[in-house]
Amino acid sequence: VKERGKNDFMIFNKQLEHQSLERRILESALRQAIKEEQFYLEYQPKMDMSTNEIIGMEALVRWEHPDLGIIPPLKFIPLAEETGLIIPLGEWILKESCFQAFAWQNNDFPPLRLSVNISVRQLEDPNFIDKVKSIVRETGIDAKNLEFEITESVLANVNSIAPILKEIQKIGISISVDDFGTGYSSLSYIKDLPIDTLKIDQSFIKDIHENRESKEIAKAIINLANSIGLNVIAEGVELKEHVDELKKNGSIHGQGYYYSRPLKVSAFEEFLKTAHEA
Ligand code: C2E
Ligand code: CA
Ligand code: CA
Ligand code: CA
Repeated sequence: VKERGKNDFMIFNKQLEHQSLERRILESALRQAIKEEQFYLEYQPKMDMSTNEIIGMEALVRWEHPDLGIIPPLKFIPLAEETGLIIPLGEWILKESCFQAFAWQNNDFPPLRLSVNISVRQLEDPNFIDKVKSIVRETGIDAKNLEFEITESVLANVNSIAPILKEIQKIGISISVDDFGTGYSSLSYIKDLPIDTLKIDQSFIKDIHENRESKEIAKAIINLANSIGLNVIAEGVELKEHVDELKKNGSIHGQGYYYSRPLKVSAFEEFLKTAHEA
Protein backbone atom coordinates (compact mmCIF):
# COMPACT_ATOMS: atom_id res chain seq x y z
CA VAL A 1 0.00 0.00 0.00
CA LYS A 2 2.84 2.30 0.95
CA GLU A 3 4.62 1.63 -2.35
CA ARG A 4 1.42 2.21 -4.29
CA GLY A 5 0.79 5.53 -2.54
CA LYS A 6 4.27 6.68 -3.38
CA ASN A 7 3.82 5.78 -7.05
CA ASP A 8 0.47 7.53 -7.23
CA PHE A 9 2.08 10.57 -5.72
CA MET A 10 4.84 10.53 -8.30
CA ILE A 11 2.36 10.15 -11.13
CA PHE A 12 0.29 12.96 -9.66
CA ASN A 13 3.37 15.09 -9.38
CA LYS A 14 4.35 14.41 -12.97
CA GLN A 15 0.89 15.43 -14.15
CA LEU A 16 1.11 18.63 -12.17
CA GLU A 17 4.52 19.39 -13.59
CA HIS A 18 3.20 18.66 -17.03
CA GLN A 19 0.16 20.85 -16.50
CA SER A 20 2.11 23.76 -15.18
CA LEU A 21 4.62 23.45 -18.01
CA GLU A 22 1.84 23.46 -20.58
CA ARG A 23 0.30 26.39 -18.77
CA ARG A 24 3.56 28.32 -18.72
CA ILE A 25 4.06 27.71 -22.43
CA LEU A 26 0.52 28.82 -23.20
CA GLU A 27 0.89 31.86 -20.96
CA SER A 28 4.07 33.05 -22.66
CA ALA A 29 2.51 32.35 -26.08
CA LEU A 30 -0.46 34.46 -25.00
CA ARG A 31 1.80 37.35 -23.95
CA GLN A 32 3.53 37.15 -27.30
CA ALA A 33 0.18 36.97 -29.10
CA ILE A 34 -1.01 40.16 -27.46
CA LYS A 35 2.19 41.94 -28.46
CA GLU A 36 1.90 40.69 -32.03
CA GLU A 37 -1.89 40.99 -32.31
CA GLN A 38 -2.44 37.38 -33.36
CA PHE A 39 -6.15 37.86 -32.69
CA TYR A 40 -9.13 38.64 -34.84
CA LEU A 41 -12.81 38.97 -34.20
CA GLU A 42 -15.81 37.15 -35.56
CA TYR A 43 -19.30 38.59 -35.42
CA GLN A 44 -22.44 36.56 -34.86
CA PRO A 45 -25.75 38.09 -35.97
CA LYS A 46 -28.53 38.64 -33.46
CA MET A 47 -31.99 38.42 -34.96
CA ASP A 48 -35.50 39.59 -34.29
CA MET A 49 -37.13 36.17 -34.43
CA SER A 50 -40.52 37.43 -35.52
CA THR A 51 -39.36 39.61 -38.44
CA ASN A 52 -36.12 37.74 -39.24
CA GLU A 53 -34.32 41.08 -39.29
CA ILE A 54 -30.79 41.45 -37.97
CA ILE A 55 -30.68 43.73 -34.92
CA GLY A 56 -27.06 43.42 -33.84
CA MET A 57 -24.02 41.21 -33.48
CA GLU A 58 -21.82 39.71 -30.78
CA ALA A 59 -18.06 40.08 -31.15
CA LEU A 60 -16.20 36.82 -30.40
CA VAL A 61 -12.42 36.72 -30.21
CA ARG A 62 -10.28 34.22 -32.13
CA TRP A 63 -6.60 33.45 -31.61
CA GLU A 64 -4.68 32.32 -34.65
CA HIS A 65 -1.27 31.13 -33.50
CA PRO A 66 1.37 30.99 -36.30
CA ASP A 67 2.27 27.34 -35.50
CA LEU A 68 -0.60 26.00 -33.42
CA GLY A 69 -3.40 27.33 -35.62
CA ILE A 70 -6.72 28.48 -34.20
CA ILE A 71 -6.95 28.18 -30.42
CA PRO A 72 -10.56 28.31 -29.17
CA PRO A 73 -11.54 30.96 -26.59
CA LEU A 74 -12.46 28.37 -23.97
CA LYS A 75 -8.76 27.38 -23.98
CA PHE A 76 -7.25 30.83 -23.53
CA ILE A 77 -9.89 33.17 -22.04
CA PRO A 78 -9.76 31.47 -18.60
CA LEU A 79 -5.95 31.70 -18.67
CA ALA A 80 -6.11 35.33 -19.79
CA GLU A 81 -8.42 35.99 -16.85
CA GLU A 82 -6.19 34.22 -14.31
CA THR A 83 -3.05 36.02 -15.48
CA GLY A 84 -4.67 39.43 -15.91
CA LEU A 85 -3.80 39.41 -19.62
CA ILE A 86 -7.53 39.79 -20.30
CA ILE A 87 -7.10 43.47 -19.44
CA PRO A 88 -4.93 44.39 -22.45
CA LEU A 89 -6.66 41.74 -24.61
CA GLY A 90 -10.12 42.95 -23.61
CA GLU A 91 -9.12 46.51 -24.41
CA TRP A 92 -8.00 45.44 -27.88
CA ILE A 93 -11.27 43.51 -28.42
CA LEU A 94 -13.40 46.48 -27.40
CA LYS A 95 -11.49 48.97 -29.52
CA GLU A 96 -11.33 46.73 -32.59
CA SER A 97 -15.05 45.86 -32.45
CA CYS A 98 -16.11 49.47 -31.88
CA PHE A 99 -14.06 50.64 -34.89
CA GLN A 100 -15.67 47.90 -36.97
CA ALA A 101 -19.19 48.62 -35.75
CA PHE A 102 -18.72 52.32 -36.48
CA ALA A 103 -17.64 51.49 -40.04
CA TRP A 104 -20.77 49.39 -40.47
CA GLN A 105 -22.90 52.17 -38.96
CA ASN A 106 -21.81 54.43 -41.76
CA ASN A 107 -23.17 52.08 -44.38
CA ASP A 108 -26.75 52.10 -45.59
CA PHE A 109 -27.76 49.49 -43.04
CA PRO A 110 -30.03 50.34 -40.13
CA PRO A 111 -28.01 50.83 -36.93
CA LEU A 112 -26.90 47.56 -35.36
CA ARG A 113 -26.10 47.04 -31.71
CA LEU A 114 -22.63 45.69 -30.96
CA SER A 115 -22.35 43.27 -28.01
CA VAL A 116 -18.96 42.75 -26.40
CA ASN A 117 -18.14 40.18 -23.71
CA ILE A 118 -16.59 41.80 -20.65
CA SER A 119 -14.93 39.67 -18.00
CA VAL A 120 -14.91 40.35 -14.28
CA ARG A 121 -11.19 41.17 -14.26
CA GLN A 122 -11.85 44.04 -16.65
CA LEU A 123 -14.67 45.39 -14.48
CA GLU A 124 -12.36 45.28 -11.46
CA ASP A 125 -9.67 47.28 -13.27
CA PRO A 126 -9.78 50.78 -11.73
CA ASN A 127 -9.00 52.28 -15.15
CA PHE A 128 -11.80 50.41 -16.94
CA ILE A 129 -14.36 53.23 -17.11
CA ASP A 130 -11.77 55.74 -18.37
CA LYS A 131 -10.61 53.26 -21.01
CA VAL A 132 -14.17 52.65 -22.17
CA LYS A 133 -14.88 56.36 -22.41
CA SER A 134 -11.77 56.99 -24.47
CA ILE A 135 -12.51 54.04 -26.78
CA VAL A 136 -16.03 55.35 -27.37
CA ARG A 137 -14.62 58.79 -28.14
CA GLU A 138 -11.78 57.52 -30.32
CA THR A 139 -13.87 55.10 -32.41
CA GLY A 140 -16.88 57.38 -32.81
CA ILE A 141 -19.35 54.64 -31.93
CA ASP A 142 -22.67 55.82 -30.51
CA ALA A 143 -22.77 54.38 -26.97
CA LYS A 144 -26.47 53.65 -27.50
CA ASN A 145 -25.41 51.03 -30.04
CA LEU A 146 -23.05 49.34 -27.61
CA GLU A 147 -23.86 46.58 -25.12
CA PHE A 148 -21.70 44.72 -22.62
CA GLU A 149 -22.41 41.03 -21.97
CA ILE A 150 -21.56 40.12 -18.40
CA THR A 151 -22.10 36.61 -17.03
CA GLU A 152 -24.73 36.16 -14.38
CA SER A 153 -22.28 34.77 -11.80
CA VAL A 154 -20.37 38.07 -11.85
CA LEU A 155 -23.53 40.07 -11.19
CA ALA A 156 -24.21 38.11 -7.99
CA ASN A 157 -21.61 40.38 -6.33
CA VAL A 158 -24.13 43.22 -6.32
CA ASN A 159 -22.34 45.53 -3.91
CA SER A 160 -18.99 45.64 -5.65
CA ILE A 161 -20.44 45.59 -9.16
CA ALA A 162 -23.23 48.19 -8.80
CA PRO A 163 -21.07 51.36 -8.93
CA ILE A 164 -19.26 50.14 -12.06
CA LEU A 165 -22.47 49.21 -13.86
CA LYS A 166 -23.93 52.60 -13.01
CA GLU A 167 -20.91 54.30 -14.60
CA ILE A 168 -21.36 52.12 -17.70
CA GLN A 169 -25.04 53.06 -17.84
CA LYS A 170 -24.13 56.76 -17.54
CA ILE A 171 -21.99 56.45 -20.68
CA GLY A 172 -25.12 55.14 -22.43
CA ILE A 173 -23.96 51.53 -22.81
CA SER A 174 -26.49 48.71 -22.19
CA ILE A 175 -25.93 45.68 -20.00
CA SER A 176 -26.94 42.13 -20.92
CA VAL A 177 -26.85 39.20 -18.46
CA ASP A 178 -24.97 36.43 -20.26
CA ASP A 179 -25.67 32.75 -19.53
CA PHE A 180 -28.82 33.74 -17.67
CA GLY A 181 -30.20 30.95 -15.51
CA THR A 182 -26.85 29.30 -14.76
CA GLY A 183 -25.36 31.75 -12.26
CA TYR A 184 -26.67 30.06 -9.09
CA SER A 185 -27.62 33.42 -7.68
CA SER A 186 -30.71 34.98 -6.23
CA LEU A 187 -32.62 37.10 -8.72
CA SER A 188 -32.60 40.19 -6.52
CA TYR A 189 -29.63 41.66 -8.43
CA ILE A 190 -32.03 42.34 -11.30
CA LYS A 191 -33.77 44.86 -9.09
CA ASP A 192 -30.61 46.52 -7.83
CA LEU A 193 -28.53 46.71 -11.01
CA PRO A 194 -29.10 48.66 -14.25
CA ILE A 195 -29.79 45.69 -16.49
CA ASP A 196 -31.35 45.88 -19.96
CA THR A 197 -31.36 42.33 -21.33
CA LEU A 198 -31.51 38.72 -20.16
CA LYS A 199 -29.68 36.29 -22.41
CA ILE A 200 -31.15 32.82 -21.91
CA ASP A 201 -28.32 30.30 -21.63
CA GLN A 202 -27.92 27.84 -24.49
CA SER A 203 -28.38 24.87 -22.15
CA PHE A 204 -32.12 25.69 -21.94
CA ILE A 205 -32.45 26.19 -25.70
CA LYS A 206 -30.62 23.06 -26.83
CA ASP A 207 -33.44 20.69 -25.82
CA ILE A 208 -36.31 23.16 -25.56
CA HIS A 209 -38.31 21.21 -28.16
CA GLU A 210 -38.07 17.90 -26.31
CA ASN A 211 -37.60 18.69 -22.64
CA ARG A 212 -40.45 20.02 -20.52
CA GLU A 213 -38.19 21.60 -17.89
CA SER A 214 -36.15 23.54 -20.47
CA LYS A 215 -39.33 24.69 -22.17
CA GLU A 216 -40.85 25.93 -18.90
CA ILE A 217 -37.62 27.59 -17.73
CA ALA A 218 -37.25 29.48 -21.03
CA LYS A 219 -40.91 30.48 -20.87
CA ALA A 220 -40.54 31.69 -17.27
CA ILE A 221 -37.47 33.78 -18.18
CA ILE A 222 -39.28 35.35 -21.14
CA ASN A 223 -42.33 36.13 -18.99
CA LEU A 224 -40.13 37.60 -16.27
CA ALA A 225 -38.32 39.82 -18.77
CA ASN A 226 -41.56 40.96 -20.40
CA SER A 227 -43.25 41.76 -17.12
CA ILE A 228 -40.42 43.91 -15.74
CA GLY A 229 -39.56 45.58 -19.04
CA LEU A 230 -36.29 43.88 -19.95
CA ASN A 231 -35.27 42.65 -23.37
CA VAL A 232 -34.70 38.96 -23.79
CA ILE A 233 -32.59 36.96 -26.23
CA ALA A 234 -32.12 33.22 -26.66
CA GLU A 235 -28.63 31.96 -27.47
CA GLY A 236 -27.72 28.67 -29.12
CA VAL A 237 -30.72 28.67 -31.45
CA GLU A 238 -29.75 25.89 -33.84
CA LEU A 239 -32.90 24.25 -35.11
CA LYS A 240 -36.22 25.14 -36.70
CA GLU A 241 -37.78 23.34 -33.71
CA HIS A 242 -36.04 25.78 -31.35
CA VAL A 243 -37.41 28.73 -33.31
CA ASP A 244 -40.96 27.33 -33.35
CA GLU A 245 -40.89 26.62 -29.62
CA LEU A 246 -39.46 30.03 -28.70
CA LYS A 247 -41.89 31.96 -30.89
CA LYS A 248 -44.81 30.53 -28.90
CA ASN A 249 -43.75 32.91 -26.14
CA GLY A 250 -44.16 36.08 -28.17
CA SER A 251 -41.61 38.29 -29.81
CA ILE A 252 -38.03 37.78 -28.73
CA HIS A 253 -34.53 37.97 -30.12
CA GLY A 254 -32.40 34.99 -31.02
CA GLN A 255 -28.82 34.10 -31.85
CA GLY A 256 -27.35 30.82 -33.03
CA TYR A 257 -26.29 28.57 -35.87
CA TYR A 258 -29.87 28.44 -37.19
CA TYR A 259 -29.41 32.05 -38.30
CA SER A 260 -25.65 32.16 -38.68
CA ARG A 261 -22.36 31.01 -37.21
CA PRO A 262 -19.97 33.70 -36.00
CA LEU A 263 -18.55 35.28 -39.19
CA LYS A 264 -15.34 36.95 -40.24
CA VAL A 265 -15.68 40.59 -41.30
CA SER A 266 -16.14 39.97 -45.03
CA ALA A 267 -18.63 37.12 -44.52
CA PHE A 268 -20.56 39.25 -42.05
CA GLU A 269 -20.77 42.00 -44.66
CA GLU A 270 -22.15 39.46 -47.14
CA PHE A 271 -24.71 38.43 -44.52
CA LEU A 272 -25.71 42.07 -44.05
CA LYS A 273 -26.13 42.57 -47.79
CA THR A 274 -28.39 39.56 -48.26
CA ALA A 275 -30.31 40.38 -45.09
CA HIS A 276 -30.76 43.88 -46.46
CA GLU A 277 -31.90 42.76 -49.90
CA ALA A 278 -34.27 40.09 -48.56
P1 C2E B 1 -20.46 33.08 -24.70
O1 C2E B 1 -20.25 34.53 -24.47
O2 C2E B 1 -21.57 32.42 -23.99
O3 C2E B 1 -20.57 32.93 -26.28
C1 C2E B 1 -21.42 32.03 -26.95
C2 C2E B 1 -20.65 30.87 -27.52
O4 C2E B 1 -21.58 29.98 -28.16
C3 C2E B 1 -19.64 31.23 -28.60
O5 C2E B 1 -18.57 30.31 -28.51
C4 C2E B 1 -20.43 31.00 -29.88
O6 C2E B 1 -19.61 30.77 -31.02
C5 C2E B 1 -21.21 29.78 -29.51
N1 C2E B 1 -22.45 29.62 -30.28
C6 C2E B 1 -23.14 30.54 -30.98
N2 C2E B 1 -24.24 30.02 -31.53
C7 C2E B 1 -24.27 28.72 -31.19
C8 C2E B 1 -25.17 27.64 -31.46
O7 C2E B 1 -26.19 27.76 -32.14
N3 C2E B 1 -24.85 26.43 -30.91
C9 C2E B 1 -23.74 26.23 -30.15
N4 C2E B 1 -23.51 25.02 -29.66
N5 C2E B 1 -22.87 27.24 -29.86
C10 C2E B 1 -23.14 28.46 -30.38
P2 C2E B 1 -17.06 30.78 -28.57
O8 C2E B 1 -16.89 31.85 -29.60
O9 C2E B 1 -16.23 29.56 -28.66
O10 C2E B 1 -16.82 31.47 -27.16
C11 C2E B 1 -16.90 30.73 -25.98
C12 C2E B 1 -16.84 31.62 -24.76
O11 C2E B 1 -15.57 32.29 -24.69
C13 C2E B 1 -17.88 32.74 -24.78
O12 C2E B 1 -19.12 32.25 -24.33
C14 C2E B 1 -17.24 33.72 -23.82
O13 C2E B 1 -17.45 33.34 -22.49
C15 C2E B 1 -15.76 33.58 -24.16
N6 C2E B 1 -15.39 34.61 -25.14
C16 C2E B 1 -15.44 34.57 -26.51
N7 C2E B 1 -15.05 35.74 -27.03
C17 C2E B 1 -14.77 36.55 -25.97
C18 C2E B 1 -14.31 37.92 -25.85
O14 C2E B 1 -14.12 38.65 -26.84
N8 C2E B 1 -14.11 38.40 -24.58
C19 C2E B 1 -14.34 37.62 -23.47
N9 C2E B 1 -14.12 38.17 -22.24
N10 C2E B 1 -14.78 36.36 -23.54
C20 C2E B 1 -15.00 35.83 -24.79
CA1 CA C 1 -21.62 36.26 -24.66
CA1 CA D 1 -23.61 32.94 -23.28
CA1 CA E 1 -20.80 31.12 -21.68
